[in-house]
Amino acid sequence: MNTLSVATRIEVWDDGSGSSFITELFVDGECLVSRSQFYAIDFEALSQSAAAPGEYFIITCTCGIHECAGIYDGIEVTHQGNRIIWRIVEPEPERRFVFNASKYRIAVERGIVQARSLIESHRSELGKSCYITPRDNGYFLGIYSIETDNP
Ligand SMILES: [Zn+2]
Repeated sequence: MNTLSVATRIEVWDDGSGSSFITELFVDGECLVSRSQFYAIDFEALSQSAAAPGEYFIITCTCGIHECAGIYDGIEVTHQGNRIIWRIVEPEPERRFVFNASKYRIAVERGIVQARSLIESHRSELGKSCYITPRDNGYFLGIYSIETDNP
């Protein structure tokens, strides 16, 4: 059985001109995708995968368009009893992970709670000098609202 954890953090850019609000996934303590390749984690897809099986673009581009990062096949998520199974084809290598469904849901919930507390402590920077990647996470976590649509 594999273990999933979700972490959100603020990463200050090397030149100090801004920062990114990034979400990362860890499987058995290993970061799932490399940030250096412009991959990002879509919180909404992750959350949906905890609720129902399907194909989910949990791994996407930092801009939010998965094709932009060369990902055309989403993670194939199946639910079997108290298990949530992932089959990842892209990005390579092809991998299969088996999670305990209860622990998976707790990990996702914890990730959301942690992200929200990070938002509270950085609210003044978010959407100004701090960019949410992918941008859609900003809507999912309530940083942006469709009505006001911050730049
Ligand atoms: Zn992109």
